[in-house]
Amino acid sequence: MIFHAFLIKYAEIAIKGKNRYLFEDALLKQMRIALSKIEGDFQVTKEQGRVYVFCPEEYDFEETVEALQRVFGIVEICPVVIYEDHGFEQMAQDAVSYMQARYPGYAGTFKVYTRRAKKSYPMTSMEVSAEIGGRILDAFPEATVDVHEPQLTLSVEIREKIYVYSDSIEGPGGMPIGTNGKAMLLLSGGIDSPVAGYMIAKRGVKIEAVYFHAPPYTSERAKQKVVDLAKLVARYSGPIRLHVVNFTDIQLYIYDQCPHDELTIIMRRYMMRIAEHFAQKDKCLGLITGESIGQVASQTMQSLAATNEVCTLPVYRPVIGFDKQEIVEISRKINTFETSIQPFEDCCTIFVAKHPVTKPNLNVIRRSEEKLAEKIDELMEEALNTTEIIEIG
Ligand code: ATP
Ligand code: MG
Repeated sequence: MIFHAFLIKYAEIAIKGKNRYLFEDALLKQMRIALSKIEGDFQVTKEQGRVYVFCPEEYDFEETVEALQRVFGIVEICPVVIYEDHGFEQMAQDAVSYMQARYPGYAGTFKVYTRRAKKSYPMTSMEVSAEIGGRILDAFPEATVDVHEPQLTLSVEIREKIYVYSDSIEGPGGMPIGTNGKAMLLLSGGIDSPVAGYMIAKRGVKIEAVYFHAPPYTSERAKQKVVDLAKLVARYSGPIRLHVVNFTDIQLYIYDQCPHDELTIIMRRYMMRIAEHFAQKDKCLGLITGESIGQVASQTMQSLAATNEVCTLPVYRPVIGFDKQEIVEISRKINTFETSIQPFEDCCTIFVAKHPVTKPNLNVIRRSEEKLAEKIDELMEEALNTTEIIEIG
């Protein structure tokens, strides 16, 4: 079957007034970007409160659907067959041939749902539905009508032409990128942070990212893995500016000066400070991490409080209440899992103590950080100045 268009349904569209237009404009823009990456000249339009994608004569159906499935804000994607309007008789025949092509020998329940965008049409929607329903019953003797819970709804939209559809493919939901500001993701090579970035992007937030690497303790491969993960997240979020911070000297200095059981917490506080620096510089409104309560020593409530204390921007932790398995499920869905589990050392895994504190005391941590007074400003300055910026996507 050849589909000529897609009807796009979007939900959070309980959003009213001016915001609704912003939402729709952002949605159309993101759809156009997604479709520009695949072959063919697609037309994305908004007509009378409905969003359509009109397809070129030749296009790859699967690829098009997959591209649309990465556009946040889309709830349903309905492939549409378009017929010329040659009067009611022809329309009824077309509806029956659609059914014959799409559901040969259909024997389940159905209803016909008609919408008239062209109100001048000489029949009411109810009349059209009843009449076409009758024709379908004639053509499919084993099918029955159920208007309350049909297994199949055949939608007929009367516009300049006649649009017929019955399928609905699930979209990603959420809100279009660009409707909710920008945030800075702390992106490591693990499973959690790409998922965290995806989840915040899904709410319409544009994403930037920062990765702390520690050469030669972490390899080029570890960095490449993060670049690869950023690319995978960017398939949903759009372009990501990735800051690669050289963290080695800061880590070594902390290692030299501070008690080893506090290393992770102190390191994480410096990561947050640096991430916040770049966030402020690029007008991000928050930070994002992949932390989840209790997952590791640095993610107990006490540790999170100690990490959080150095931030002035809000820190969003969308997987905070998720079990690992739940995070893994999302990472599989967005296709980051296989990359995340590649075994390259991350800077945190190298400098961890055998018995890290799980209930850090803030005063103790602050006192330990005082031991860094001599050189830390200089090292921070150096890290900021040598940060490499990679534009992803
Ligand atoms: P992930 O799966 O994302 O690696 P994790 O369970 O390994 O998370 P941690 O290593 O404690 O947890 O890191 C917690 C969060 O801190 C990460 O989700 C990420 O947001 C951030 N983070 C950790 N290491 C780095 C790093 N090297 N660069 C950037 N962000 C990092
Ligand atoms: Mg990690």
